[in-house]
Amino acid sequence: MTFAEANDIFHMPLMELLYRAHTVHKENFDVNKMQLCTLLSIQTGGCPEDCAYCAQSKRNKQRAPMERITEVEKIVAEAQEAREMGCTRFCLGASGRRPSPEVMDIACEAIARIKQLGLKACCCLGTLSEEEVLRLKSAGLDYYNHNIDTSPQHYKNIITTRTIDERMETIRLLQKHGIKVCTGGILGIGESNNDRISMLLFLKTLDSDPNLITINRLVKIPGTPLENAPDIEPFDFVRFVALASIMMPHSYVKLCAGRETMSEELQALCFFAGANSMFIGKKLLTVDNANFNDDMHLLQKLGIKG
Ligand code: SF4
Repeated sequence: MTFAEANDIFHMPLMELLYRAHTVHKENFDVNKMQLCTLLSIQTGGCPEDCAYCAQSKRNKQRAPMERITEVEKIVAEAQEAREMGCTRFCLGASGRRPSPEVMDIACEAIARIKQLGLKACCCLGTLSEEEVLRLKSAGLDYYNHNIDTSPQHYKNIITTRTIDERMETIRLLQKHGIKVCTGGILGIGESNNDRISMLLFLKTLDSDPNLITINRLVKIPGTPLENAPDIEPFDFVRFVALASIMMPHSYVKLCAGRETMSEELQALCFFAGANSMFIGKKLLTVDNANFNDDMHLLQKLGIKG
């Protein structure tokens, strides 16, 4: 798909866009089912990277020092709780450019235990070498989350300590070795609609579409360069969800951070446009997530099953 084609779809009359996205979505998924996932941070804070949106970044003067969960039993207990809440996937996240040997050890041990609980295991540990990809694969890893955050053009305004090409390199390594990839970005970080469309087109340059497209809505963290970023127009957010569903019809589309500030009606529009995966649980790394009971009530009202 060319930029002009994607741009035309993005700017279609909203009702037609929603109809088209929902039709594509219905052809590929059960529209009344939602994939539920929980994220646990096993290493938080003290990151040397400079992602402008992140509470853990070196650009945040108020960032907390690094903390790590070292007891695998604690991770297993959290995974068990997530399973009881209805999750089918459990994700381990760690701050930093790439996983330290300690984080790799903990993650690999935890992945095996998470799998024993009947959950799919997912990690988000930063840039990986091929050796690390293979190690995670033999530990049983199902999915890896590695966001590209924004368009290639806007990337340098948000992060200067690494490049978007490095991110794509890790994604390619994961795909080469058969690990399913979750990737996407954040809306509301000063990007234009053109950047949003370019980000999806850039993901289309991969050999195969990611298994899941992650869509975050900026959570404005005091002390970060984006603390006063203008809000994204809600209908542009829905348009982006719809375009992602149309461009990558076999990929799950996940609403990640920022969902707790979205109205029920806006979330329902996103679900109609093709969003069919979400995080549940109290925290998403350092930011609060939507309330679990509210989420369950919303899904029940909409007739959607977890
Ligand atoms: Fe570090 Fe990840 Fe935050 Fe970037 S997003 S500053 S890599 S923890």
